[in-house]
Amino acid sequence: MALKIYNTLTDKKEEMRAGRRSFFGLFGKKKIKMFVCGPTVYDSIHIGNARTFVIFDFIAKFLEYLGNDVFYLQNITDIDDRIINKARDEKVKPEEIAKKFEEHYLHDIKAMRIDAVDDYARASEHIDEIIAQVKTLIKKEYAYTARSVITDSPDAINDLGNKDVYFDVSKFEDYGKLSKQKLTEQESGTRVKVEDNKDDPRDFVLWKAQNYTYEPAWKSPWGMGRPGWHIEDTAITEKQLGQQYDIHCGGLDLKFPHHEAEIAQQEAASGKKPFVKYWLHSGLLTNKGEKMSKSLGNFITVGEALKKHPAEVWRFFMLNAHYRSPIDYNDDSIKQAEATLNRLIEFKTRLESVKAGDSNPKVVEKFAKMKEKFILDMTDDFNTPKAFAVLFNFIREINILIDENKVGEVNANDILKFLEDIDTFLKIIPKEKEIPKEIKDLVEKREKARENKEFEKSDSLREEIEEKGYIIKDTPSGSQIQKK
Ligand code: AMP
Repeated sequence: MALKIYNTLTDKKEEMRAGRRSFFGLFGKKKIKMFVCGPTVYDSIHIGNARTFVIFDFIAKFLEYLGNDVFYLQNITDIDDRIINKARDEKVKPEEIAKKFEEHYLHDIKAMRIDAVDDYARASEHIDEIIAQVKTLIKKEYAYTARSVITDSPDAINDLGNKDVYFDVSKFEDYGKLSKQKLTEQESGTRVKVEDNKDDPRDFVLWKAQNYTYEPAWKSPWGMGRPGWHIEDTAITEKQLGQQYDIHCGGLDLKFPHHEAEIAQQEAASGKKPFVKYWLHSGLLTNKGEKMSKSLGNFITVGEALKKHPAEVWRFFMLNAHYRSPIDYNDDSIKQAEATLNRLIEFKTRLESVKAGDSNPKVVEKFAKMKEKFILDMTDDFNTPKAFAVLFNFIREINILIDENKVGEVNANDILKFLEDIDTFLKIIPKEKEIPKEIKDLVEKREKARENKEFEKSDSLREEIEEKGYIIKDTPSGSQIQKK
């Protein structure tokens, strides 16, 4: 089955040709190598960040569902000005801040049922590779050193031997090919401020001189210093995935300057194009139309979010929109997602209680059509809203047939198997807690009492079951038990 993916680089939906079996059986045993920009560990992540991580978790798992072998690498930005500033304010070491929030991050993504990442790579563990890449760029004349800025602050180091290194964007012809900007239209490639020691404001930093005592620093050919943000990722991916790989993902906010700079660094350093075949960008999660972000203060952390609704509801809320579209978060939209998801969960419970009946050809036909359409939509640039519409329409139709006792046990089991399969990449169905044997026995006794028309006995058994925390529903196809 062909998979179509929208590639930001070409601005087109393309048929994907990568990895093993590759849906066409053409490319031997190669793995799909996928890289996603991970968190900057200076604070807890919010549900905007989580949306991006949920989307790429789903995409990696869906590629595997299609029969591919995926190696998913994520970096951890543990050297960054925001970490350094927080550490200075809290009078602790930057490593302590980074370690604490990396632990928070790993805890939060696990709680969101994100588990597709195969390996994490920290910038601080790739300093040699970063220095090697900067050296190559200087040697090939894509980069230049600049004297660092001297101040008279009491923390200043004022060591003229410590130099900044910048990438000279005018030397890289293709600069702007991802974000489709011409060099003249581009803003500076820094995320903090425009330094005044650059040849051109659009040049971006590869190596930062240590200027203050509280800044972490490593020995380099340019004195003591630390890596710039963009070079952390290309040094990591060159070591872990090679000079060229298949898929690079991140939120839309990273397209420029971060990803544009990554292309410039890696293609200039290796001379090989394209650095990455497919660039995927997720739409942003907004709050009243504005990007959810730490700096605007309009965020809710994953910890807070999970106190309001379980992970499956958040995942469904995030996956029910197309991954490239923005989603606006508000209480109503998440409640609506919860109500819709409950329809799926109730449907599953109803199917589980179908314990008899022959296979119905009408159900078989509807099921086959739904499955085909669902997967077709999913393989069309991961069109989850269309696929979910198909699934929920099917649920509505089959619910009517269950009411009429026209769904056989085999039908029910086939549909349940399908739901289980698609949940390997969606992870929207809560993991079931086994119903205790004691409750199952009470339910069986009550069924017998009902069959024997012992209604008083059956009512008192119902009460006993409810007292023990379970609800029993009588349906034409038998009793359903649910935890209260
Ligand atoms: P950061 O820690 O700021 O580098 O962000 C980590 C990831 O979250 C990146 O892939 C960002 O693109 C993504 N991200 C940040 N804010 C949002 C948002 N409001 N909606 C979706 N993704 C976001």
